[in-house]
Amino acid sequence: MDPRKILEEIDACLKKAMVQGLGKNGLVFPIDPVAVEDEHLSAVCHRLETIFGMINESYQYSEHLSRGDLKTKLSRNNIFAMPLKGLQASLAHLTWQTRQVADGDLNQQVHFLGEFSDSFNHMISSLREKKMIEQRLKLITDVLGEGVFLVDTHGKIIFANPEAIRLLGYRFDEIEGAFIHEIIHKQKSNGTLYKLQENPLFNAIASGNDYNNDDGVFTCKSGFLMPISFICRAVYIDNILDGAVIAFRDITVQKKHLQTLKEINDLLEKQATTDALTGIFNRMKFNKSLTNEIQRAQRYSTSLSLIIFDIDHFKQVNDTYGHLAGDTVLKNLAGLVVSNLREIDVFARWGGEEFVIQTPETCPDGAIKLAEKLRSKIEKHDFSEPEKITTSFGVTTFKKGDNTISLLNRADEALYRAKEGGRNQVVYHG
Ligand code: GH3
Ligand code: MG
Ligand code: MG
Repeated sequence: MDPRKILEEIDACLKKAMVQGLGKNGLVFPIDPVAVEDEHLSAVCHRLETIFGMINESYQYSEHLSRGDLKTKLSRNNIFAMPLKGLQASLAHLTWQTRQVADGDLNQQVHFLGEFSDSFNHMISSLREKKMIEQRLKLITDVLGEGVFLVDTHGKIIFANPEAIRLLGYRFDEIEGAFIHEIIHKQKSNGTLYKLQENPLFNAIASGNDYNNDDGVFTCKSGFLMPISFICRAVYIDNILDGAVIAFRDITVQKKHLQTLKEINDLLEKQATTDALTGIFNRMKFNKSLTNEIQRAQRYSTSLSLIIFDIDHFKQVNDTYGHLAGDTVLKNLAGLVVSNLREIDVFARWGGEEFVIQTPETCPDGAIKLAEKLRSKIEKHDFSEPEKITTSFGVTTFKKGDNTISLLNRADEALYRAKEGGRNQVVYHG
């Protein structure tokens, strides 16, 4: 074969490849080297044919690589594809490193891919920082003395800290994904169930509003309703509502303290307003009540009457039967009177063996009738020691301009007249 012809064929082949690309079959050496008579030229053709083959293989190899296939094999002697082979090894190692990172190993560093290495290593250090922040936040929520829930915008529980778990008795997997308003906060503090749309926690979460409750209850796994104080704060990520954080405290102890305090205060209040012997109101409470009732009568022109009564010759009772028997008479007398009064009447021990009754909405006639009824009941009652006692009554009615003193003075004056008039009687002084 003419050497010139051979060169032309090869040139045409290369030209075609440069215009059309390698195509499906790659570079096909246009000459059969065996058919070339000139020994030297035949050897050159052989070499060129081998180089064509290497180029084809490199081309296919890089195509595979570009598709992410890192398993393709390459002939050992392909001198053109060596750098690609190096790249393949680097990418394979990088793939392994990325998997390590995904599994939480943030010690991976890449040094063989130039700019890409820098980006990868930067990503790792950012992840490390984030992990550190995450660990610190976890530490904080772990040691926090308050229960903490993180919920999504539908109220679905995403996170609960150890204190929340400890307080409510659930394992996290038992409440993860549950709706907080369906499992934890579904009741009002009086135990009645919320309707969904009325549940203030649900509404706060759904609308992204803050919500505080110092008198709420959370349901424990045991069913116990735990009195709690909690706050709910919306969580926004990039200005988009992402859910809410709910922090809560068990206030059982405080509630108990408050209850005890209330009981003590109630007792103190009762002691301050009650006569120890008879259990009815004392003089201080009566004065306060009378002042209020006078103001009401003044403002609304309602009628108000005042009755004062005193046991006749009570000194003799003590002298004859002893002080204790006298006490019993006072107690029984108070009980007898209480059972004959209305709810709105205010009855008190004025002092010693003297009692007062404030009868609102009562005209003089009504008050006189009431006093007469009481006098008669007392007279007929069997007190056993002594069997019988009598009482004297003074009655008066509120007049415009009256104050407690003027009203009491008039009633006292009436009582004095009843005593003067022979006792065991009712006297009215208008
Ligand atoms: P009068 O008909 O004028 O009211 O005669 P009286 O004896 O009831 O009146 P006086 O004021 O002379 O005596 C009142 C007595 O009431 C004297 C006192 O020892 C007695 N007394 C006052 N408070 C108590 C008490 O809490 N218990 C007992 N047992 N007696 C009391
Ligand atoms: Mg008396
Ligand atoms: Mg007296």
